[in-house]
Amino acid sequence: MKRKVFKCVFRTAMVFFLLCCLLFVLAFYRYSVKAYAAQLREEALCAAAALEAAGDSVLPDIGGMLTARVTWIAADGQVLYDSSGEADRMENHADREEVQEALLNGTGEGRRFSASTGETMVYAAVRLTDGTVLRVAAPPYGGAALLFNLFTPLLVALLLAGVLAGLLAMQVSRSVLRPIEELELSGTDERDVYPELRPLVRRINTQNRQIYRQMEGLKAEHERQDTLRREFTANVSHELKTPLTTISGSAELLRDGLVRPEDVPVFGGRIYDESQRLMTLVGDIIKLSRLESRLEMPDKHMVDLYELCDMILSHLEPVAKKQAVSLSLMGQPMSVFGAESTLYEMVYNLCDNAIKYNRPGGSVTVTLEQKDGRVCLTVADTGIGIPPEDVERIFERFYRVDKSHSRDVGGTGLGLSIVKHGASYHGVEVSVDSTVGEGTAMHLLFPPAVQRQEI
Ligand code: ADP
Repeated sequence: MKRKVFKCVFRTAMVFFLLCCLLFVLAFYRYSVKAYAAQLREEALCAAAALEAAGDSVLPDIGGMLTARVTWIAADGQVLYDSSGEADRMENHADREEVQEALLNGTGEGRRFSASTGETMVYAAVRLTDGTVLRVAAPPYGGAALLFNLFTPLLVALLLAGVLAGLLAMQVSRSVLRPIEELELSGTDERDVYPELRPLVRRINTQNRQIYRQMEGLKAEHERQDTLRREFTANVSHELKTPLTTISGSAELLRDGLVRPEDVPVFGGRIYDESQRLMTLVGDIIKLSRLESRLEMPDKHMVDLYELCDMILSHLEPVAKKQAVSLSLMGQPMSVFGAESTLYEMVYNLCDNAIKYNRPGGSVTVTLEQKDGRVCLTVADTGIGIPPEDVERIFERFYRVDKSHSRDVGGTGLGLSIVKHGASYHGVEVSVDSTVGEGTAMHLLFPPAVQRQEI
């Protein structure tokens, strides 16, 4: 940048200086031409004075003394003398403008191509008292002479122009770029810079504010994640502790022979149930952490959702029977792009909840339908429903509307968290419609077919 500004200013300054030099040379040339003409006139006057004083015998001496050509012309235009020595052969000069002017005014000047010398000449003529005219002629002041005279000063001027242009360019580039170099990227007051820089400073300040806001957002998100992680660890420890306490207590009583023989199966059953609960809990924690980290996720492909729902309902049939809940599947075969095992977990958890939080004699209906070109899966039950204030929170880890009821029905509090993370992995929107005492409907809205392939 500095180099560019330097080059640009240097070039401009050089052009400016060269133009100045050219103008100076032109002015000097005009001055020199005038001075040359004046000198010629002076020579003519001197020569005329000598001729008047000493007579025509001095003419050869004058001719020899002056570098100019000397011509003496009679009042009628006849050439009486010429320093070239060819006066006899020269034509009448009465029509020459300088001669006419000298005869009329006393002095005359002219400039034209001379047939006698074969080149352009400058003339100065003076009328003598006897009416004759003395004329001196010399080649005009030429460009070569000018260059010869001005060679050294021009060279010095050129060098000086170069140095001055360099200094100027350095000074300008420095002073132009200093405010830019001094710009504080962390924030500069707009009023401290020159107007042209203000839009840039404004943009930098806006970007800084954006970055600051993003950083604040990230920090808040980081803190939120940290709190969630801490809460999760605390919850997991608590959830693990409860069944472990039961297992350990029952095992201790059995070991110490403090259980009556007829109660042994009861204690054994308790240990078994709590171990099962522990296994389910650990399994859910593993599934959830895999989904959260998105590590080792199964590959996605087209999955027949209808077939998958059918399989899940048949797997849950024994549980539903125990609760006296009827299961049904509505709709028609529909495929979605996804990870089959994750989709299985999601739908399984929804159906499992619909059975768990149902009432005896109730029903669970899984419906598959198209909504605006998107696949929509609904799991509706006729169960206890969810209070509106809890609907937002049921997807949080370990959140349960009724902790003891969840525990009684074998819940871990992680089922809907797994649904939420699985949905986000598939770009699926989850929504809940629920009325306490009437039932709940959970909807999974899959992304449109084109997008589905890209997720
Ligand atoms: P849990 O293992 O306790 O079922 P979930 O994460 O699956 O954990 O569900 C969280 C809570 O949301 C449940 O404890 C329950 O209170 C409520 N819930 C989930 N599904 C339903 C439903 N279909 N009907 C009523 N309440 C439900």
